[in-house]
Amino acid sequence: MNQALTCPFCGLLCDDLGVESRAGRAEVTAAGCAQARALFPVPPQAQARIDGQAADWRAAAKAAAERLAAARRPSIAGLGCDLAGVRAALMLAERCDARVEHRHGAALAQELRATRRGGSLRTTLSELRNRADCVLFAGTRAAAHPRFFERCIEPREGLFGARQRRLILIGEAAQTAPESAALEHALAFPNAHLAEAVQLLRARLAGRRLDARHWHGIPIERFDALAAVLRAAHYGVAVWDAAELKPPHAELALRALYDLVAELNRDTRWAALPLGGNDGAAGAAAVCTWLAGRPPPLRYVHGAPQDALNADATDLVIWISAFDPQAAPPPDVPAVVLARADWRGGAAPAIFIPVAVPGVQRPGALVRLDEVPCLPLAAPAPADLPGVADVLDAVRAGLAGRSAHAAA
Ligand code: SF4
Repeated sequence: MNQALTCPFCGLLCDDLGVESRAGRAEVTAAGCAQARALFPVPPQAQARIDGQAADWRAAAKAAAERLAAARRPSIAGLGCDLAGVRAALMLAERCDARVEHRHGAALAQELRATRRGGSLRTTLSELRNRADCVLFAGTRAAAHPRFFERCIEPREGLFGARQRRLILIGEAAQTAPESAALEHALAFPNAHLAEAVQLLRARLAGRRLDARHWHGIPIERFDALAAVLRAAHYGVAVWDAAELKPPHAELALRALYDLVAELNRDTRWAALPLGGNDGAAGAAAVCTWLAGRPPPLRYVHGAPQDALNADATDLVIWISAFDPQAAPPPDVPAVVLARADWRGGAAPAIFIPVAVPGVQRPGALVRLDEVPCLPLAAPAPADLPGVADVLDAVRAGLAGRSAHAAA
């Protein structure tokens, strides 16, 4: 196997893949998951189009600039790209007063609001793998991160010797993946009740009296038993995925989980590990925070960044999906789509510009879901396609001389 490469197709950023180029397409030859094997092979070429007519990508970028200049409420969305792409998106948004949002922005915002209201005590994938003897899965089986169990849970030989782990699930009993067979389903209930269940667990941990003997049919003794298991752990990790929790209770559930982790630290050691980060979401949050002082969604007004938590009507979307061939822009809005060559995410957009996939056709960098390392991406099957940043920079250059902040 050649040098191990990093996979960009979910927030885990597995860095042990064998990838070879065959007839111009990348193929996974070692490690990886079904998702990686499906997404690495991407055509080396595709045609840019303006209103269905074939065009050079630079002409398409120029046409996109003209439409952007005419738009009053543009948005740059999807944001499925590497760090350079996000940086270019922000520079373009600042130039034309656009809204900037990631397709997983709702989950990002829920996490942010929950942590703002009391802080968070988090750990990393490495710490989980090396230290955890108890893992609490709260409303998730990590299905959006296919190798989570293989990479982080199954290895029992850590830096500090062999380790037995207790794996406990509370919340919904979604389909069991083969690698999650060791999960004990301690408390089964709909994820909509997660906030309530975790508050009840906290109350029992704190020794508070409850007059009720059952909660949604579950005897209170089951909460007591679980509280004892959590307290007995030497290094526990609570895992969840905000994308699997829906409003209006998601934020409450996240805050309750962070509080549970903090309270368990009075007796032993616990930390949180929120999953997420798919489609470059962790990198998008990092770059937006570095450059605009806040994660997406945000909006520029007269060139200054502001929070944009409420949805705005938009009259033109620049939709970026360099990783997912099926991510669709919002319906009923004219779209300029910058996407991988095999994109099939909906009806033909007003303008389509194929872009190189970072980590497959072009080098780049992404931030892993635990926000610790920023991993470099290689280009095992280089293609003669522009990167997202190239196209966005060309669109911005096309705005030169035009009125800045057209939406103001
Ligand atoms: S789990 Fe995620 S990062 Fe790892 S190989 Fe699969 S898609 Fe790629």
